Amino acid sequence: MATTDSDIRTVLATIEDPDHGGNIVDRGMVSAILPNDDGAQIILEVEAGRADRLSSLQTRVEDAVKTALPHLAKVTVIMTAERSAGAEDANRPQRQAAPSGPAPRPGASGNGPQAGAERRTMAPDVRHIIAVASGKGGVGKSTVAANLALGLQRLGLSVGVLDADIYGPSMPRMLGVTGKPASPDGKTLDPMENHGLKIMSIGFMIEEETPMIWRGPMVQSALQQMLRDVNWGPLDVLVIDMPPGTGDAQLTLAQQVPLSGAVIVSTPQDIALLDARKGLNMFRKVDVPVFGIVENMSYFVCSNCGAQHDVFGHGGARREAERLGIPFLGEIPLHLAIRETSDGGTPVVVSNPEGEHAYAFVSIAELVRDTLEGNTTGAKPAPKIVYV
Ligand code: ADP
Repeated sequence: MATTDSDIRTVLATIEDPDHGGNIVDRGMVSAILPNDDGAQIILEVEAGRADRLSSLQTRVEDAVKTALPHLAKVTVIMTAERSAGAEDANRPQRQAAPSGPAPRPGASGNGPQAGAERRTMAPDVRHIIAVASGKGGVGKSTVAANLALGLQRLGLSVGVLDADIYGPSMPRMLGVTGKPASPDGKTLDPMENHGLKIMSIGFMIEEETPMIWRGPMVQSALQQMLRDVNWGPLDVLVIDMPPGTGDAQLTLAQQVPLSGAVIVSTPQDIALLDARKGLNMFRKVDVPVFGIVENMSYFVCSNCGAQHDVFGHGGARREAERLGIPFLGEIPLHLAIRETSDGGTPVVVSNPEGEHAYAFVSIAELVRDTLEGNTTGAKPAPKIVYV
């Protein structure tokens, strides 16, 4: 039997806030409900000062949902303690929609769930933070993140890249940076720089061979540190290369980082698209606008005969984006040059800036920039790309 978030919300509405009375739904403490194949994840947001006292609430919520909906095999309740005092007096706050006009990034204005004082300390001089995400690994998320960052930079924006893919940090390799970031004051880190980008990666902190068995909360704190304790300085856009997938770690990141929006990368295969839908759903549940889908490895142009081969069934992501009513941002072919340049530290946008692959990435960057600047919204289909 399929369980919807409203089934779960009905159960949650029977649970009282132990400190203030009233139910936890009406008090705005339920920030996301994510039904999945085996059960559901429920994210509760509470004031930092109440977090310790409320640990029993976590168990109560789990027990209540399991009792009322016994067919749910696994119910996970995640408590986040990011809300500022007083935030619970409102009904569930909504994250700002896609910005209209060249707005500061959400969270800087004092509205919405990202308005907590703690969040404002994350990269305070960065105007927009965007996530590049995928439903599963290996679809080219990091390749797109690197080239998108370089494309945004080519449009005149100042850009940073934060490699949060703790399972396989690839930005040091893709952006050609090695070594360790300096910490002149012993407390904060200076980001590394190459190709004009500021770059921070969990890969700078760990040896490549280190087994990455990090649990969700550790991932979250590593990311928060990379936002808070790195001297990003003023930037127009910080591109976060998310860990692949839609599990607890990704969900928490999506919820806790003050994101202006997300770009989802998918290959055209149906299976990958199913995963991409999960990614989309995840961002929607936490009210982060999805700027659109990029279809990577969309088709293959044979270097011998010049013919186009649709190895993975070209066009799936475009159709899916249309069906879901979100912008389709563009398609990137499967091409050796893209792999070689990304894996060699000079992504195609810088190694062959006038080539067709660079053009494809810069076109995607234009759509993302336009959405950030409010020339379009995350809810409309992508405008036709006119490139002169
Ligand atoms: P993810 O971040 O989704 O795990 P990566 O960006 O690391 O994926 O890409 C996985 C591999 O596929 C890398 O070797 C990368 O160079 C290659 N790759 C990604 N996109 C393309 C493409 N469009 N054409 C050719 N190779 C690609």
